[in-house]
Amino acid sequence: MLDGEPFPSNGLYLVTASGIVMIDTPWDVEQTIPLLEQLQQRHGKKVVMCLVTHFHDDRTAGLGILNSRQIMTYSSKQTGQLCRTRKEKEAAFQFDGDTSFTLAGVTLEVYYPGPGHSKDNLVIWFPQARILYGGCLVKSGTAIGLGNVADADLGQWPVSIQKVIDRFPQPAFVIPGHGNWSDGQGLQRTLQLLREQASKKPVRW
Ligand SMILES: [Zn+2]
Repeated sequence: MLDGEPFPSNGLYLVTASGIVMIDTPWDVEQTIPLLEQLQQRHGKKVVMCLVTHFHDDRTAGLGILNSRQIMTYSSKQTGQLCRTRKEKEAAFQFDGDTSFTLAGVTLEVYYPGPGHSKDNLVIWFPQARILYGGCLVKSGTAIGLGNVADADLGQWPVSIQKVIDRFPQPAFVIPGHGNWSDGQGLQRTLQLLREQASKKPVRW
């Protein structure tokens, strides 16, 4: 929910023989329990792990519930620190630098490209499926603005996007933090929005 209105927010889950991995939690606590139950019903497996891609509550709100259910929750150390100072829920396990996880033969790579939407935003790469989960670093191909930029680094954001483009060429899918991903244009659209933002002249009074 954003300002009292429903607003779509994307997460992703991965079903492996060892259980389900969630990338990011739902935006609020009320959505987290039904999601856990639905996933178990649909796939006959439990959620065993959750990785959050930055500290904002559209990624982290459900961490308290997941922690209380002994689901292994992960974030970067940088995200953990920001969660603490900003009083957001925090992951139980925190890694330093880029890392990867393999569950029942399925690998996910965690990459920190530098600041963008937030100082700590991570992207996740699934090498077998060639899916890039961009989180809030990446806008939807149809986004009309950069969204919440309160914690953004507008100067570094394009540099971080370019690093992601160079590192993961030709992804099959790019999943943005919010909105549609079917056109595959999220990375390019984010660069374009950042260029438009940079060319706006500051208003002088
Ligand atoms: Zn955010």
